[in-house]
Amino acid sequence: MPKLKFKRVLLKLTGESVSGEGGFGIDQKIVRDIALEIKEIQEMGIETAVVIGGGNIFRGSIAANDGMDRVTADYMGMLATVINGLALQNALEREGVHTRMLTSIDMRQVAEPYVRRRAIRHMEKGRVVIFAGGTGSPYFTTDTTASLRAIEINANVILKATKVDGVYSSDPKKDKNAVKFTDLTYMEVLQKDLKVMDTTAITLSMDNKIPIIVFSMKEKGNIKRVLSGEKIGTIVKGNK
Ligand code: UDP
Repeated sequence: MPKLKFKRVLLKLTGESVSGEGGFGIDQKIVRDIALEIKEIQEMGIETAVVIGGGNIFRGSIAANDGMDRVTADYMGMLATVINGLALQNALEREGVHTRMLTSIDMRQVAEPYVRRRAIRHMEKGRVVIFAGGTGSPYFTTDTTASLRAIEINANVILKATKVDGVYSSDPKKDKNAVKFTDLTYMEVLQKDLKVMDTTAITLSMDNKIPIIVFSMKEKGNIKRVLSGEKIGTIVKGNK
């Protein structure tokens, strides 16, 4: 077996990545496809943690714009990530993958509370760990959760799965002159205001020197490709 480039990875899935057409709800077939990809990397011996978003169900900032109290709206968003987490956990277990879901908001009947040492222990035992509930605090995002948890568990890399095959100078769907970047520094992302992750997530990753690989989940097998060292997507790190 070739030497693994990464031993422990944190995969960030947006809520949209488990949704069907229109970006809403949960499409079980898509969740199963994702579960199969996670199974593949788990079988390669890579320790895997997943942070899942909730934007397919509820986004706090949008509800707040419509007049809702922001903190309440954000808690609803965080609960939405737990719904997605359960869907992913179920799909993984159906494929025979051992999992544990840990939530940053206590709901002991549903999942374990987040305890860093426990998360690490689960991964060492070969279980896929799902982090749900975001950071547990309003005004944050699950991208920031991904950076925070990745640092806490000493992951080697953050894999940011999107619907686009990397980071572009502008939206490739709207601008035919958009150029794809293969390598970026955190500073470039911040200065050019590129849509990789929100600024809190980028700053946290920069301060703690954890690389981010942005890639598309649309093509099957891409997680494995990225982890096998294939140059797909965009890598964001301290220097080029
Ligand atoms: N959220 C929050 N704190 C967190 C993480 C998430 O308040 O630490 C809320 C926020 O309202 C957000 C929603 O949960 O809109 C769903 O998360 P996110 O938008 O990051 O999901 P994604 O875009 O990845 O689907």
